[in-house]
Amino acid sequence: MDSRRITSSRTYELLKTVLFFYVVFKQSAKAQRHLRARGIITSFREFYTWIAQHVIMLALRLPAAQRKVRTEMDKAKQDIEDKLVPKGIDVTRHLTLPAVGQTPEWILAEMDKMDKEMGSTTDWSLGKLSGAVYHGGADMERVIVAAYAKYCVSNPLHPDVFPAIRKMEAEIVAMTLKLFNNADGAGTMTSGGTESIIMSVKTHRDWARAVKGITEPEIIIPSSAHAAFDKGAAYLKIKVHTIPVDPFTRRADLKAIKRAINANTIMLVGSTINFPDGNQDDIEALGKLAARYKVGLHVDCCLGSFIVPYLEKAGLAEGSGGKYKLLPFDFRVPGVTAISCDTHKYGFAPKGSSVIMYRDAKLRRYQYYVNPDWAGGVYASPSLSGSRPGALIAGTWAAMQYMGSEGYLESCRSIVTCAREIADKIVASIPELYILGSPPASVVAFGSKHPKVNVLEVGDKMALRGWHLNALTGPAAVHIACTRLTKADMFVADLKDAVKEAMLSPSGKGTMVAVYGLGNSSAVGPAMVGQLATAFLDTMYKA
Ligand SMILES: *Cc1c(COP(=O)(O)O)cnc(C)c1O
Repeated sequence: MDSRRITSSRTYELLKTVLFFYVVFKQSAKAQRHLRARGIITSFREFYTWIAQHVIMLALRLPAAQRKVRTEMDKAKQDIEDKLVPKGIDVTRHLTLPAVGQTPEWILAEMDKMDKEMGSTTDWSLGKLSGAVYHGGADMERVIVAAYAKYCVSNPLHPDVFPAIRKMEAEIVAMTLKLFNNADGAGTMTSGGTESIIMSVKTHRDWARAVKGITEPEIIIPSSAHAAFDKGAAYLKIKVHTIPVDPFTRRADLKAIKRAINANTIMLVGSTINFPDGNQDDIEALGKLAARYKVGLHVDCCLGSFIVPYLEKAGLAEGSGGKYKLLPFDFRVPGVTAISCDTHKYGFAPKGSSVIMYRDAKLRRYQYYVNPDWAGGVYASPSLSGSRPGALIAGTWAAMQYMGSEGYLESCRSIVTCAREIADKIVASIPELYILGSPPASVVAFGSKHPKVNVLEVGDKMALRGWHLNALTGPAAVHIACTRLTKADMFVADLKDAVKEAMLSPSGKGTMVAVYGLGNSSAVGPAMVGQLATAFLDTMYKA
């Protein structure tokens, strides 16, 4: 009996030891992968920032500090609220349903009144917005609205009830695949670039699990990639390695990306073009890495949408004198497994539409959700949403038919010419600024190389002149996404004045300086900016 007890306690000890070493091995393998991906210096810096943030957060718990932070935050929140939510007794608030339904005349009149009450100061039709409104012209708007009206109640979840909507969605995907040179590929429509990207992350995750047995998936993205990849990874519990881009070319750092690839990698990411500075990653080189390590490669053409596929046809892909050259980026590049393209950006389709494309139909299957056992019947849906607005599909189909290849070619030519004119003129006539990289398409970002010019201050001075531009933080810079409404001359003339003013009389108080300056300047910045952003979201739902 004693010998049996000894054996079992020995077995127990052995199991404990094995388990201990297993955990140590797993954790150190994880740490090692992390270290290899980020490098020792970056890992150390990350660790330092983490400690600094925690120390400061602890310090902020002191009552005196707390009071100060609360006062500051309350003030900032009030500023946001003052900007967005109307005040006063003469503002009508609709907080309960009307007892009896209103007439159509009343409804439209009330909307006019609301527009007036809210006093929007931004007239997007003046062409001073960066991106935001991708206007295809008044005639096109009529076509889209008519298509909307015709299919107002339709829902592609029921293709037997709305067969024309099913056909239109399939055709939108087919036309877009053709544009990206993959007539044999597959895809689906989604509600926008973010959903297209989240779907692609999910598809590659499920593919990697099924084919390669990966249970702790990781993706590798350049720091210029859109936040939607982080959002998708956060939703889907995937580890993200963010690799800094080359500071001069603004392209993905291939060596660092290669170093970050490991047995858990499911996909790499490249943009054509990226959101922050409009540059393009070397997709061919990324494709080679993806093929060699048998991982996916998502090319984000959400912003490039219907501009980058037309650069070649417009004779603009070669750039001018070595500048603004477009490298190959579509399905003709080996290794590319997925491409996202936003019809609602330079496709001029109504907001809420995008296309996610895959190299083949086999890969697309990993995007689907199928539940054969649901009490409500066999359930199968292609993407995130269940019911979807068929009217949006009809509107997108109408926009694409209305534009045609010739229309998109013309819009590509005029928009890209405008962007290059802006970049060239900045280089030629504003010596205090520099252009980030060599942007081939519609987005131009500029930073300051003059010690007395804070580029965020320049952005604030541009805002005083009616421009809505985007502030970037790594490095501090400002960008404009040109649309058909942007006028290069007007922009550069205002920019020259703004630079002069920023140099002579910096206020240090504008929105860009306040919000983004804080985020960069201290370890606590990001935490505070995060809190402020959360407060901003809360404010959005104040009736
Ligand atoms: C706009 C954009 C997205 C995401 O688009 P949404 O339509 O806003 O969800 C993704 N990538 C890039 C490069 C973009 O510019």
